[in-house]
Amino acid sequence: MKYTLVTGGTGFIGSHTVIQLLAQERAVIILDNLSNSSRAVLPRISSLSKKEPLFVEGDIRDKALLESLFEQYEIESVVHFAGLKAVGESTEKPLMYYENNVWGTINLCQVMARFGCKSIVFSSSATVYGDPASVPIKEDFPTSTTNPYGASKLMVENILQDLQASDPKWKVILLRYFNPIGAHKSGQIGEDPADIPNNLLPYVTQVAVGKLAQLSVFGDDYPTHDGTGVRDYIHVEDLAAAHVCAVDKLTEFSGTKIFNLGTGTGYSVLDIVKTFEQVTGEKVPYSITPRRPGDIAECFADASLARTELGWHATRGLEEMLEDAWRWQSQNPNGYADSE
Ligand code: NAD
Ligand code: UDP
Repeated sequence: MKYTLVTGGTGFIGSHTVIQLLAQERAVIILDNLSNSSRAVLPRISSLSKKEPLFVEGDIRDKALLESLFEQYEIESVVHFAGLKAVGESTEKPLMYYENNVWGTINLCQVMARFGCKSIVFSSSATVYGDPASVPIKEDFPTSTTNPYGASKLMVENILQDLQASDPKWKVILLRYFNPIGAHKSGQIGEDPADIPNNLLPYVTQVAVGKLAQLSVFGDDYPTHDGTGVRDYIHVEDLAAAHVCAVDKLTEFSGTKIFNLGTGTGYSVLDIVKTFEQVTGEKVPYSITPRRPGDIAECFADASLARTELGWHATRGLEEMLEDAWRWQSQNPNGYADSE
């Protein structure tokens, strides 16, 4: 049996992707150290997919563990989600981010190369575009970063491209996600931040469910239609579907490919608040506060390359993203802790 190894597969995007890979009859091994996810997602993945992924609790920095996995199973491709992702924390603990995200990936690739597995899909981010000169953003726009998290993503992109250039057997797909939100339709799996959320959507849903008092809207003086920051929100199920297309694509080409994954439409913070209130009937009290350092005004994708080359495009609109996010949050006010 040939396996796809999904690092970080119990996390937010990984768990949704695992379900879709299993639905395509792929055999999946999840490797996750549970540093930002819960074991409680596993029975939910199994009951939703009616299939059992193999789960290994462990770290991508543990070379001996990786070697034993590659010895034991025939792994033909890797979908590499494992990483730390909090921008603020990365500025406080840069070494932790570089060690986990950059060194962890080098370690993974060394073991992959040793076992002749040279196909990888990597979770990158629109953060690698820095403050773009214009929108929508295309894949060939210049890259730059403003924090260690973003720098770690760009370093890994460069490392994987160098690796591919050194050995044409490598097939590398770099997926630059815009702003993933939403949850599985069932309300059974979703985003479960360990601490106070940094990202807008989990903050909004936690205010609506009564866990947080009010939302701070970071600035209303940006050059956007209502002064608040504009982003390209994409349903996590659409994102997961793009990974299935990417894994399929790995069999068809050799080289490195880079794809933006977004809807191509930007919404402001206040658009999100208003639409959330309309679709859920819940109030989201908010106040305008100063800009968050490092934030940019506007960021949305030109995702046409993924449509033409990957055969993928986002199909779910903002209302559906917000309805699904709310179903997850309202059914699981404390995330997976409710089932532990
Ligand atoms: P997440 O934190 O929910 O998932 C990441 C998973 O990786 C977690 O389950 C965590 O326990 C695991 N992990 C972290 N370090 C590990 C290690 N050393 N060894 C093994 N497992 C480890 O995050 P997510 O939102 O699902 O994001 C997945 C990937 O996508 C990350 O690499 C992230 O940087 C990237 N990304 C996320 C977003 C976003 O807004 N969610 C945007 C762009 C890119
Ligand atoms: N934002 C906000 N309040 C929050 C969190 C985020 O106003 O509590 C804004 C933020 O300034 C940005 C947008 O919401 O304009 C999306 O922020 P997020 O952190 O989710 O994504 P990113 O900035 O990384 O694209």
